[in-house]
Amino acid sequence: MKYDVSIIGAGPGGIFAAYELTKNAPEIKIAVFEAGNELHKRHCPIDGKQVKNCVNCKTCSIMSGFGGAGAFSDGKYNITNDFGGTLYEYIGKQEALELMEYVDSINLSHGAEGTKLYSTGHTTLKKTCLQNRLKLLNASVRHLGTDINYIVLERLYQELCEKVDFCFLTPVQHIRIEADGYHILTETEEYTSEKCIISVGRSGSKWMEKICGELEIPTKSNRVDIGVRLELPAVLFSHLTDELYESKIVYRTEKFEDNVRTFCMNPYGSVVTENTNGIVTVNGHSFEDPKKHTQNTNFALLVSKHFTEPFRDSNGYGESIARLSNMLGGGVIVQRFGDLIRGRRSTKKRISENMVEPTLQAEPGDLSLVLPKRILDGIIEMIYALDRIAPGTANDDTLLYGVEVKFYNMEVELNERLQAKYEGLYIIGDCSGVTHSLSHASASGIFVARDILESSHADGKKQ
Ligand SMILES: Cc1cc2nc3c(=O)[nH]c(=O)nc-3n(C[C@H](O)[C@H](O)[C@H](O)COP(=O)(O)OP(=O)(O)OC[C@H]3O[C@@H](n4cnc5c(N)ncnc54)[C@H](O)[C@@H]3O)c2cc1C
Repeated sequence: MKYDVSIIGAGPGGIFAAYELTKNAPEIKIAVFEAGNELHKRHCPIDGKQVKNCVNCKTCSIMSGFGGAGAFSDGKYNITNDFGGTLYEYIGKQEALELMEYVDSINLSHGAEGTKLYSTGHTTLKKTCLQNRLKLLNASVRHLGTDINYIVLERLYQELCEKVDFCFLTPVQHIRIEADGYHILTETEEYTSEKCIISVGRSGSKWMEKICGELEIPTKSNRVDIGVRLELPAVLFSHLTDELYESKIVYRTEKFEDNVRTFCMNPYGSVVTENTNGIVTVNGHSFEDPKKHTQNTNFALLVSKHFTEPFRDSNGYGESIARLSNMLGGGVIVQRFGDLIRGRRSTKKRISENMVEPTLQAEPGDLSLVLPKRILDGIIEMIYALDRIAPGTANDDTLLYGVEVKFYNMEVELNERLQAKYEGLYIIGDCSGVTHSLSHASASGIFVARDILESSHADGKKQ
């Protein structure tokens, strides 16, 4: 089985690479290998009744399958170089922004027409933030919502499946490099392709590490973000979320001079669990459809930890902290802010009497037994800082879910064409360490597709 291009992973990186290739060169033979399922077969068994907690499925339907980790996400496409990845360091700021805008136009033409584009361009909230030692980062954000995001993916799949060979439930095990190209080895088959795009995301991080080891591709890793997800009445944040939808706000703590930031804000949304390599952490999402709105807004507060030599296993550090919460709470722990600052655990009774009703059934507990002091102190400081621009944030009833960990894939050594040290081997999206968002991962897919098209064109001319 011989292909021109093989794509490993059908998340945004892989999908947009396939889209751009098929659009511009329909004659190219492409295979996409995906560890998870087709979109409509992706179902998490947690139903809140019979199955309340993660049962560690062989392939996690939340993280894997067509659409990747983003399939059931809130679908926030941030068009910015200020966060979401460092693609601009490889391809330049202008091109990175243009590619993200192009991705936006593809989404619009596949079901996202009519969704709102929010922007920090002319907001007075920047000044209010600065007056309170908070920094609001610049961005435009297209909010698709979980529902529209799904429709866009459905349409992209319908279009692509006619032109591309999809192999679902087919995790790639090894890649061998030989004179005739890249040999892609699955459990039962072997495929060959001239070019290979790896886009296995966060869920493929361990596999990526193994492949880099086998192919002697240099990597480095030194960062993990750890924190909690806050849930509070949506009305407290509505002046920010109505105008900006998602505000990325950074606070520098007085005590340790650490940066704490808001992350993944979901107005009128729900808190959800996430399973990364068997470790249950917390996340959030919200729907575009007002009928599916809740009364609450949720967002994460994360502290970045950059480690220096000799310690290299930043993800291992994050995992250990998440494991601690899984050990104490059987999964995610929830605590009232009032209980946290009084130094006591939350109980089922206190949560049931709480003014803010949780949208996720988590185990009431004590996050101070899980999070390192430095991280917890930073989070508490930021909650009080946010209280100055959104009074009520530091109310006793504000809920904190833990832990939220943002694992960063190790950074793979790549050139300015996002190629590893082998010609024709592209490593993109979150697994490369270059991106950590839907828009950057998608843009990286478009970028390498164009590079492949250009290089094939140049090869054709030479012959
Ligand atoms: C709950 C949740 C909400 C999120 N919300 C947002 C948001 O609103 N905005 C935002 O910008 N970002 C969000 N993110 C992050 C965003 O989803 C990712 O940054 C993005 O999906 C990365 O795309 P990717 O293509 O690099 O990888 P992924 O989307 O992770 O896709 C990788 C794919 O590769 C497959 N794979 C892994 N290993 C193998 C293998 N060996 N062989 C074959 N296939 C393999 C996986 O099954 C997966 O389907 C969210 C993430 C989660 C989990």
